[in-house]
Amino acid sequence: MRRLLPFCLLLSACATTPRLPPPAPVGEAEMRATIGVLASDAFEGRMAGTPGADKAAAYIAERFKTAGLQAPSGGYRQSFKVDHKFRALPAEMAKLPSGQGYFMDEQNKHGSFTTDNVVGKVPGHDPDGRAVVVMAHYDHLGICAPESASDRICNGAVDNASGTAALIAVAERVARMGLDRDVWFVATSAEEWGLLGAKAFADDPPLPLAAIVAGFNLDTIAIAGQGAPVAMVAAKDSGLESLVRDAASAMGRSWDGDDEAQPFLQRQDGWALAQRGVPMIMAGGSFSDFKLLQAFLDTTYHDPEDELRPDTQLAGAVDDANLHVELVRRAASRSMLPSFAAVPHQ
Ligand SMILES: [Zn+2]
Repeated sequence: MRRLLPFCLLLSACATTPRLPPPAPVGEAEMRATIGVLASDAFEGRMAGTPGADKAAAYIAERFKTAGLQAPSGGYRQSFKVDHKFRALPAEMAKLPSGQGYFMDEQNKHGSFTTDNVVGKVPGHDPDGRAVVVMAHYDHLGICAPESASDRICNGAVDNASGTAALIAVAERVARMGLDRDVWFVATSAEEWGLLGAKAFADDPPLPLAAIVAGFNLDTIAIAGQGAPVAMVAAKDSGLESLVRDAASAMGRSWDGDDEAQPFLQRQDGWALAQRGVPMIMAGGSFSDFKLLQAFLDTTYHDPEDELRPDTQLAGAVDDANLHVELVRRAASRSMLPSFAAVPHQ
């Protein structure tokens, strides 16, 4: 009997065929466990430059290592310096979230310090010189209320232990998927200081920024419920809308294209890279229900109330973590060609 060639050898698309069985979906219990660690009082609200943020960086680096991510030269923890210039507190402090004024006061006392982004890579199995980036900030406001307060810690469960937990969960899956392209995972520090970790990454990147075909930032994702429509916050020229629409549809989620959350574009880490021409977006359910998002911003945002409770809504965060596994799977395939021509093909 004539032996048949393996199906794969007959198709040029062979290189994009997943080599490994799909990983188990991200579940709520693991997300709750990771958020529970990062948002615990032991991490003291993860203010950049404090022991609490240091603990968080060590924890994330350990999770990256256990997942099998490669460290860039210098290790998972990439230090950068923050030179904070004194800023007078705004006259209308009452209009700010409760923890914000105290945080600004603390920033002024902090001065200069070093803090770490945590960076790891899943190497591509069939690399073409292009790469995918997934990013989430792990820092938050720290101790954010005076000694007289009953709860002094801004734990930042939603902002942004939720996004960091998704980053770790996605990294764990991608490490076992055998995708074509390199995928970089970046947990940034000092986002609350003005996107400083993302800017430090963009200033001294471990890969050429021009190689990034798609970047996804995860921030404040534990707001929406299960199956929420997917919206996107992106610079106009990201070229990634069809990728996100197709991935959302594959996950059984509808598309919300009203751009309601676009005012957040410059308020998230992705902006630091988008300004350098990187197609960097935020996609997920929390930006599709603006009323729900606004209710969070008006109540628990930047307040000691942002902590993990038994009834904290995590269904949407779980959905968004799984959406990002799918987004990365597609973007890290050689068959996904960038919509811009600037990147030389290898
Ligand atoms: Zn924040």
